[in-house]
Amino acid sequence: DSNTGAVSYKKIPASGLMEALQIGIGHSIGSIAPKATRDILMKDFSELEIVHFPALGTSTTPAHRCKDFIFKTYAPRAFKKFRKEFSIEADDFLVSLCTHRLKELSNPGASGSLFFLSHDDNFIIKTITRKEAIFLQKLLPGYYLNLTQNKKTTLPCFYGSFLYESMGKTIRICIMNNILPSNIKYHEKYDLKGSMYKRQASNKERMKSSPTLKDLDFLEEHPGGLILQPDLYDDLKRTLERDIRVLESFRIMDYSLLLGIHNISVNKQETLKSRKPNLETRPYSDQEIGYDQDYAKQVLDRIGSKRLKDNWKQDDSIPHGGTLAVNERGEKCLIFLGIIDILQSYRYYLYDRFMSHFLRLTIINYYENGE
Ligand code: ATP
Ligand code: CA
Ligand code: CA
Repeated sequence: DSNTGAVSYKKIPASGLMEALQIGIGHSIGSIAPKATRDILMKDFSELEIVHFPALGTSTTPAHRCKDFIFKTYAPRAFKKFRKEFSIEADDFLVSLCTHRLKELSNPGASGSLFFLSHDDNFIIKTITRKEAIFLQKLLPGYYLNLTQNKKTTLPCFYGSFLYESMGKTIRICIMNNILPSNIKYHEKYDLKGSMYKRQASNKERMKSSPTLKDLDFLEEHPGGLILQPDLYDDLKRTLERDIRVLESFRIMDYSLLLGIHNISVNKQETLKSRKPNLETRPYSDQEIGYDQDYAKQVLDRIGSKRLKDNWKQDDSIPHGGTLAVNERGEKCLIFLGIIDILQSYRYYLYDRFMSHFLRLTIINYYENGE
């Protein structure tokens, strides 16, 4: 509702949705965590777990303040395996996502997806379309192959994919890594596609305190690019080539390389200023429902988590993943990067007659606009 400033998605207020998602995710992760692991089988990629969450609760689900809802977990075993590959412990995952309110990112793309950030900044929840959710499921075996063969992959780390259904509305989400943790200040941020066509940030974007710029802006700022040490460059180039080969094999289009640049030299001169968060987050008002930590604590208790004792504090250490680079002025920088937005495939569009018609129209439009 634009008058009150409250954010909603498919007319479901974001705050209530968040609470239901946290309950659903908590239950899902908590119930798969203690199960014995075995090798992943092909059928695990298409598994779907469905749980009903009536507001009054059941013997296995908690009572809650949301409307009755259904929560589905896509490929629970496969995602558990992915989390293990990414060294994400179940209890850390739960503490990050389910014990504190999520932050809402006011920085989403043009698609209208909502983005939530875990309180400690480690995880991003993105709402995805039905098509994207179906595509993610089809992608999983290929994604897993890449994960095991290309350890340094820059593709998004997918930690889970879920569906929430309530009052006739369906919302699908995926959980992934945050490429730009906000305890680092980004002096520049780019969403790069390797194309020049309309790849310039809007004036509205530029007005933001931490805008996400595009290809043409990057070329203007860094006509000679950024300079990496030869071995780092070779490594990164090889990894990106391998990742892109996987994306191409799935006819994935419209993905971007998200790049955050922390300028160490400039930062030294800025030490007087206080650190600003890199992404704009909206604080909650008092009227909005607060998330009750009790349920998350119960789940942690059930899986025998040591995290229950104390450790609710967030770790303030500088995250790993930054790569040293130098810009044209010889200033030392740390760069953070990863590929994002990979769930749109051309192949699956073409299967759909309406969409293929639409695609032709946009291509014609594209050519008529002089490209
Ligand atoms: P569109 O399809 O219009 O491009 P979208 O809704 O699919 O938009 P994305 O392109 O996935 O959104 O992301 C939009 C912006 O959100 C990115 O440019 C980036 O600033 C931020 N973002 C997305 N994913 C991540 C991530 N994993 N880590 C950090 N920031 C992210
Ligand atoms: Ca995008
Ligand atoms: Ca997109």
